[in-house]
Amino acid sequence: MDKRKRIALVAHDGKKKDILEWAKYNEPVLAQHDLWATGTTGKLIGESCPLLRITRLRSGPLSGDQQLGAMIASGELDMLVFFSDPLTAMPHDVDVKALVRLSTVYNIVMACNRATADFVITSPSFSQAYNPDHADFANSVMEEA
Ligand code: PGA
Repeated sequence: MDKRKRIALVAHDGKKKDILEWAKYNEPVLAQHDLWATGTTGKLIGESCPLLRITRLRSGPLSGDQQLGAMIASGELDMLVFFSDPLTAMPHDVDVKALVRLSTVYNIVMACNRATADFVITSPSFSQAYNPDHADFANSVMEEA
């Protein structure tokens, strides 16, 4: 992945305050990268962080998580910052699980809480080119079939 990262920002409703604080605190750093977000998360961050240009997808429960999953599968995202709420039942729980699973499958950087997001954004690799391993899943799936 390039020095300029392709980053998705998502937060469940119970964590939107957290991601807003995190994005505001890191606004100058995030402004140097390409940003996507699910609908409501992107709207709120955009309103409070004028330096950030965010491409907004659909709201998470209305397929925004699936849109991000498709981007990951197509190699269009390097990083997912997903402040998920572990204490609230979600109507789109299957989409949330799929998004986390695809992030793991395609070995993109994934921060599901604020402490991890803090570690990631302060990592030397955040502001440098970085080449993650990509296993050849196509071949391994075919071999097992
Ligand atoms: P939202 O979606 O940003 O549109 O609220 C997030 C989610 O619940 O997945």
